[in-house]
Amino acid sequence: MRRISSLPTAEYCPKVDKIGLDVERTQSARSTVFHAYCDSGVWPAELANLPEADREEIQKWKVPMPFRYQHGDVTHMLQYKNAYREWRVAVDSDFNKVEVPIDVPQGDIERLYPQVMICGHLDMAWLLPEYDLIIVCDIKSSIFAVKEGHRSLQLQGYGLAACAAAGIGRYITAIWDASDGKYYVAKEAIEADGFEAVDIRNRIRVAAGDRDGAFRTGTHCSGCWKRSQCPAHLVNVPEGEFKAVLSGQATEADIRKALVAKRQIEDLKGAVDSAIKSWVEQHGPVRSEDGRKQYRCELRTGKTKLDEKKVASALGVDNLEDYKTRGGEYPVFDWRNADG
Ligand code: SF4
Repeated sequence: MRRISSLPTAEYCPKVDKIGLDVERTQSARSTVFHAYCDSGVWPAELANLPEADREEIQKWKVPMPFRYQHGDVTHMLQYKNAYREWRVAVDSDFNKVEVPIDVPQGDIERLYPQVMICGHLDMAWLLPEYDLIIVCDIKSSIFAVKEGHRSLQLQGYGLAACAAAGIGRYITAIWDASDGKYYVAKEAIEADGFEAVDIRNRIRVAAGDRDGAFRTGTHCSGCWKRSQCPAHLVNVPEGEFKAVLSGQATEADIRKALVAKRQIEDLKGAVDSAIKSWVEQHGPVRSEDGRKQYRCELRTGKTKLDEKKVASALGVDNLEDYKTRGGEYPVFDWRNADG
């Protein structure tokens, strides 16, 4: 049995569920606390049971606004209070609904309901039976926490499982970015028995299946909540490797050693940079102490680039080589073949 929330990483990394860290339980606990707050406007006592980082994070979250759904000339403003919240959905490998009562502990589902292939908790869902439609919405700290946004396999898993549970034919996926206070919504509904869903089902079956293999790193890792404990991302920090170099009396052997250690430092920097980006993607912006600045991610439009082929064709020449100038030489230090 696979948790629906781990489908996007499990699709690529066979080991993701082999790390003991139970992030799903923590996430589910903080989700429950946040929903209680959204309902009453008061933080429940259970807030105190959450780890400090989670407390700090969810207290920055914004309560979901009404969800605007347009159907032809009719506009629906779907209210948070009318949504199905923290709805447990589960399906077997044929994507038939399996009823798993909410009071069954997550850890017992596999044993008590062996037919379950995927199971998860939907943050919010609105049923619109008049349109044979269900809107499934996940609350995230940041839209960047999910690499594929509302197209992520997690949302698709919720959509298909919710359709099966409610006997509804179509679903729309959405994400509430709780830091920004903004919905991100798929433009089109997916037909649960349509062509697109066939491909999604196949991907989910692969992601849900147990398969052998090593930790597989890649862009999917930035959405992996187990990354902080993942052996594939641990880096050894060299200590005191640069003493001789900085003393001004280094030998060739010292420099050789320092080059290796420097590479490790660069790898470490790369790992730290990437872990910081990951954290911001998953948890939202980092505020400066005075709250006036935020370290955050934003999307920028790509740089403009000259289409050389088009320019050459407009000029009636084969290429632009005759129009290019080259800058002066500059030194580049690197390892090269000794006889080169
Ligand atoms: S961080 Fe990447 S390699 Fe490590 S468990 Fe997660 S998905 Fe797998």
